[in-house]
Parts: sequence; structure tokens; C-alpha cells
Amino acid sequence: MSDALQALRRVFGYDSFRGDQEAIVEHVIGGGDAVVLMPTGGGKSLCYQIPSLVRPGTGVVVSPLIALMQDQVDALLAVGVRAGFLNSSQDFEQRREVEAAFVAGELDLLYLAPERLSMESTRNLLDRGKVALFAIDEAHCVSQWGHDFRPDYLGLSELHERWPDVPRIALTATATKATHAEIVSRLNLGEARQFVASFDRPNIQYRIAPKAEPKKQLLDLIRTEHPGDAGIVYCLSRNSVEKTAEFLVANGISAVPYHAGLDSRTRARNQARFLREDGLVVVATIAFGMGIDKPDVRFVAHLDLPKSVEGYYQETGRAGRDGLPSTAWLAYGLQDVVQQRRMIQTSEGDDAHRRRLSQHLDAMLALCETVECRRVQLLNYFGQSGQPCGNCDTCLTPPESWDGTIAAQKLLSAVYRLQHERGQKFGAGQVIDILLGKQTPKVTQHRHDQLTVFGVGQELSESEWRGVVRQLLAQGLLAVEGDYGTLLLTEASAEVLGRKREVRMRREPKRAARAAAAAKRKPAAEMPEEARPVFERLRAWRFEEAKNQGVPAYIVFSDATLRQIATEQPSTLDELAGVSGVGENKLAKYGEQVLATLAGGE
Ligand code: ADP
Ligand code: ZN
Repeated sequence: MSDALQALRRVFGYDSFRGDQEAIVEHVIGGGDAVVLMPTGGGKSLCYQIPSLVRPGTGVVVSPLIALMQDQVDALLAVGVRAGFLNSSQDFEQRREVEAAFVAGELDLLYLAPERLSMESTRNLLDRGKVALFAIDEAHCVSQWGHDFRPDYLGLSELHERWPDVPRIALTATATKATHAEIVSRLNLGEARQFVASFDRPNIQYRIAPKAEPKKQLLDLIRTEHPGDAGIVYCLSRNSVEKTAEFLVANGISAVPYHAGLDSRTRARNQARFLREDGLVVVATIAFGMGIDKPDVRFVAHLDLPKSVEGYYQETGRAGRDGLPSTAWLAYGLQDVVQQRRMIQTSEGDDAHRRRLSQHLDAMLALCETVECRRVQLLNYFGQSGQPCGNCDTCLTPPESWDGTIAAQKLLSAVYRLQHERGQKFGAGQVIDILLGKQTPKVTQHRHDQLTVFGVGQELSESEWRGVVRQLLAQGLLAVEGDYGTLLLTEASAEVLGRKREVRMRREPKRAARAAAAAKRKPAAEMPEEARPVFERLRAWRFEEAKNQGVPAYIVFSDATLRQIATEQPSTLDELAGVSGVGENKLAKYGEQVLATLAGGE
């Protein structure tokens, strides 16, 4: 058996490597450089942790996630790996201890914030010990166009010049070709072996629903499908974060807010609670989540449209790192499109920047309005192919596509007439009222009932018309501008009005995907019903144990491990050792307690 496999089994308690892990680990142990693109939950950590254990010296991990280093180190200490970190949160004495351990060769892994590495004192320190490898985690932070850019990452290109013999491994869950290329060029990793995994996350069920009453829809999702589960809810503004968190709490869901406007202590406390408690919901802006290692996040909900497919993929990817069934749910409506277009129009930066933002948004809208499998679309976006998955809303309850050409013509012609006969611009609400022939005060005031298009659209309901507007916007056949979201024709509109172009549209299925999805999914997947009470007992034991140690519950054992224990009910330490995630150290530390907990219920 190879040293790597031995370490995997003995230390981490796992049977075998997954996917590319083995090839990556062997390559780095052999001294090679690597760039690893692997989705969240794919198992990137082991790709540098195992080589750090096998190679002589200390693996130095560069990570931007200062707030999470303590947890990362605790997770390693829990399996008996000698690990430490150096960052600005420590006092002089704490740092000195870690430095001494490193120089004495007593550390397997050392986590560093990137700004530390640019300090000459840190470089001198590294020269006094032995570095086994450099791991550059969250390597997309080197990309200046990405939303996580960290200037300190640019300095990492010098690692190779200063330590030419030390292998480097850069890792990220960001998948676009552009980011990949930027990592390679900025970190001088052109010669490195490139490992690009499939970005499919089969355990995540993707669903995108029309937005009606988003908070209620969210509550319904939590109550019917995820009661007592941990989840992340993303909102665009601080205000809606606060309101949504209050709404959930008022309805008996334990939830906390997280956004940049909260003071740093509150933020840190809410994040710590999320990591440590079972079943807490965090309502957050996108400032929350990068590097959150919590494996049992069961759902990620978006109440506002993400700005790009990349962002959407990253955020939803925080669900289900443990491989168990999880939900990614997004509510999306016309107002989102209006709002985002406005934000792009008023954003700082040059035209090229705005164009890029528009392209990102267009791709996101295309994902929302597709009649194809969401997963296939997502993978295509990252340049990968896939088959219809059977685990997204369009696969579970296929929407019909319909010929929306006439509807499009009616709507565009209403916009045209307002503009050319009256010299007026209006938002979607007024245009739809005109099509429906509604005598509202605003219609009367502007004498819009005199227009030839007044009342010509009564075959569709108001919400169907909103769907038409949304889809025309998504397809670039209509544009929107200004604070009031006034509608404008585009060049492509002329083709529709001139009957030169057909318009296909998506009809929302009458029955939401939820019912079908919930029916298909076993409540606690892959665990027989009779194991459930045992699992709950184990969870209660884990909760106490984690609390006593002051670490997140998953550091004691993951849900996946507890499920397997509950299902197999081992009666000896030997049998317990066979469970995935029970390594040497945890067996010695918790074995007796687990067996006692199992026996205690009878
Ligand atoms: P990433 O950093 O890529 O998001 P992690 O390294 O956190 O993913 O791994 C995700 C989960 O999968 C963790 O709970 C980890 O312990 C588990 N895992 C990783 N590799 C294996 C493996 N070979 N066998 C079993 N579980 C694994
Ligand atoms: Zn699908």
C-alpha cells in the first residue's frame, strides 16, 4: 500500500481516494506542481494535506480565510495531525509558539494569511525550517476580475523564485476558463499539471421558481423540506437580510443575519453559531460563505437574482459538501432584472466593464429561463457537458415551451406605440395594464385606453404577461432603463415586430417542482427509518462533545459518519473503525463513548 493511501486510512479513516485525488496526491508527493479545479465538497483539502504528511517538512497553506483558520486547524488536530496557523488575530506569544514548533520540525501543516508571506520576517522564518510544499487555497483570489480579489495574492508568484525546489499546488472551486488562465499566468504555474474535475454536484437539486411572495415561499421551503436543517439564504441588500431574518425568527425558525453593516463582533458571533450549532439558518449578503467548511448545509436559497452564473454556482455550492441530498433554490422575478440592469447602468468603471457585467447577467437570465436541464446549462457554462439529470426542477416537472411570438409582438408594439405615438416611456406595470384593458386611474389620466393596443392581451393573465416581459428582457428583445424600469425597444425588437423572428417562451409548470421533488426524495436520504432515533441520539452526544471542546460539531464527526454508524450499529471498536470518517485518533478518543451511546438507547 502506498504511503498516501496508508495516511488516508489511518489518519482520516477513509477507504479510498475520490476522483482525481490520488493522481494529484502522488504528483505532489513526487515534487510536481499542480493546479486543481474541483467543485466545493470535491475534497480539495486532502490533496495538500496528505502530501504534507508524507513529504518531509511542513506543508505551508496560504489561505485568505483568517476567521476560519482556527476551525481548519482544530479539524486537523482532531484527527491527530500537528497543525498551526499564523495570522493577525494572534498575540506575539501565540505566534512565537507556532514559529518555534515550525522551526523544530514539529508541524505537519502551517496555515498562513497571504499578507504574512509578503513579510520578510515570515520568509526568513520559512528558511529556518523545512517546507514540504506550498498550497495556495482559494487560488481564484489572484484574479483581478473575480469578486474575491486579494492584492496580496499577486505576491505569491515569487514563491517559486525563492523556493524553486518546493512543489506548489493551487486550488480553487471557481471553474471558468478565464479564471483558470489567470491563476496559471499570475502564479507562474504554466508548467504545472492541470487537474480539472467535473463541476457537477449531483447531490444538489437545482430549482428556480418565479418570485411571488419570496419570504413566504422561503418559509414554505424550510417548513416542508428542510425543517431543523442548516441553510444559507442570500439577499442582495442589508435591509432585506435584516427583514428576512426577522421574518424567519418570527415564524419560529432559528435564523441570524450576516452583512457588512453589522459590527465585526456580531458577524463573527453569527458565523461561529452557524458553524457550531445544528440547524441554524444564516440570512446573508454574498459577503458570507467563502471557505465555510460546514459540510451539512442542507439548502442554499437566493431571494434575489445573483449577478452571474459563477456567483450562483459558488454560493449554491456551499450546500451539501458532505455529498448528502441538498437543495439550491432561487426565487426570481421581473423586478430583479429591472434592478440589476439599473445597477449595471449606474455602476462605476468603463463601458467594457459594464458590458462584462451585462454578459454575466445575460448568462444568469438564460439559466433562469431555460426549458432545458438546469445542470446541463450550468455545466455548459463551465465548458463541460452533461446529460439531463433528473434532479433539477426542469427535469422533475418539465416546463412547456410555447410559441410566444404573438404575445411578444403585442407587448413590443404597445411599447412602440407609447414611444412613437405619445413620446412616452413606461414600466412593465403600465404596459401590462394597457394590454389587459384595465381602466386604472393612470390609464385614464394618460388616455391610454385610446391606444389601438388597449385590451388586446386579455388571453394572458397579469403574471403570465410579467413572464413574457421577463423573457423578452432575458432574450435581449426588450431593454429596461432608469429608476422606474421603463421599457425600451432594442434592435432585435424590430425583427419580432417585423414578423422575421419567432419567440419561444417557457411556461411555468402549474404544479411547482416541490411536490414532485419532495415525493421523490427520502427525508433522511440513505438512512433507514429505524436508524433515525439512533442518529438523533448520536447527534445529541456530538452536540455536547463539541460544546465542551468549543469546536464545530462536524469536527467531532460529520453527519455522513453518524448516519453510517446509526445504520450499521457497530458493537465493537473494530467494527466502528470500518466506518468512513473514523480514523485512528477519533477511534481512540470517541470509540467507547460512541458504543456506549449506541447501547444506551436499548
Ligand atoms: P473542498 O475543500 O473541495 O470543498 P473538502 O476537502 O472540505 O472539500 O471535502 C469535502 C468533504 O468530503 C469533507 O467532509 C471530507 O472529509 C470528505 N472527503 C474528502 N475526500 C474524501 C474521501 N476520499 N473519502 C471520503 N470522504 C472524503
Ligand atoms: Zn436536470
